[in-house]
Amino acid sequence: MTLTPVEPLPEHEVRVRAPGKINLSLRVGAREADGYHPLTTVFQAVSVFEEVVATPSDERTLTVSGAQADLVPTDSSNLALQAVEALARRTGVDEGVHLHLDKGVPVAGGMAGGSADAAAALVACDALWHTGLSRPELLEIAAEVGADVSFILMGHTAVGQGRGHLLTPALTRGEFYWAFAVQDRGLSTSACYQAFDELHGGEPGAPDPELDVPLMQALRAGDARALGAALHNDLQLASLELDPHLAEPLAVAEDSGALGVIVSGSGPTVAALARSRQHALALAAAFTASGVADRVLTASAPVAGARVLSSD
Ligand code: ATP
Repeated sequence: MTLTPVEPLPEHEVRVRAPGKINLSLRVGAREADGYHPLTTVFQAVSVFEEVVATPSDERTLTVSGAQADLVPTDSSNLALQAVEALARRTGVDEGVHLHLDKGVPVAGGMAGGSADAAAALVACDALWHTGLSRPELLEIAAEVGADVSFILMGHTAVGQGRGHLLTPALTRGEFYWAFAVQDRGLSTSACYQAFDELHGGEPGAPDPELDVPLMQALRAGDARALGAALHNDLQLASLELDPHLAEPLAVAEDSGALGVIVSGSGPTVAALARSRQHALALAAAFTASGVADRVLTASAPVAGARVLSSD
């Protein structure tokens, strides 16, 4: 009699995908006593994704692959590990996990790649550990980890207030197409806010910035031309001061017929709104041909927030 060798059980793994974001409008109030700036922003999740695979482990560890993986910390400063710790604290779970991050979102590019990893890690460990938290509970933990993490959980398009974590979903119609000029050099979000403070000063305690009504109307109508005209970023001047070369991709996009172009969040990624999917490819080709980007990406938007792709 021959014995059939017993196959080891496949290791349980949960695979989650989370999008990057752009700020269609970013209005920044004066710095408050706690160092934060009140925001009124309109987030949109775009089809540039992080993929996070969670597998059981004795410890809590992390590896990274993808473009610019060498720029991502693998210690406890990584936002994905911070999200895991926050979830474990909240639920009393004592288990370990190994996370593998495959990065598609530019690192330190103003598109919330780290927050996307954190949101994905929360969703992945909630499934792996069977903690079964409700959406509002996950959103609460997300807000603890970082201002943009809540939006990445939610996805689509939303108005963010406070530090960007008080979210209201926005009505939109249709699909918008984007081209991104990505730089290898990152821009520090805190340096950008510091430059903003120096440029604008401002009175602490001033009212929170107002919501862009024409932009919300453009989204509701699915009117890409009106959306392009309404794009706005209060941090753009500060980003340009820190990195004057960013004027180049902005000019290339305008010359190539973009409906609107802005620095994404605190930069240095430049986001150009296209007329169509084809036009987004043409804008990306113009960025490449003129040598104003280290890498280009195209995307459609809005897309869903962090979601389990497979679990077995
Ligand atoms: P935001 O748009 O939210 O300001 P960003 O897109 O500009 O963020 P991130 O890529 O999220 O920037 O990361 C900024 C810095 O945070 C990196 O330079 C890195 O040192 C650190 N960091 C921590 N966790 C991560 C992560 N999971 N992925 C990338 N960077 C991370």
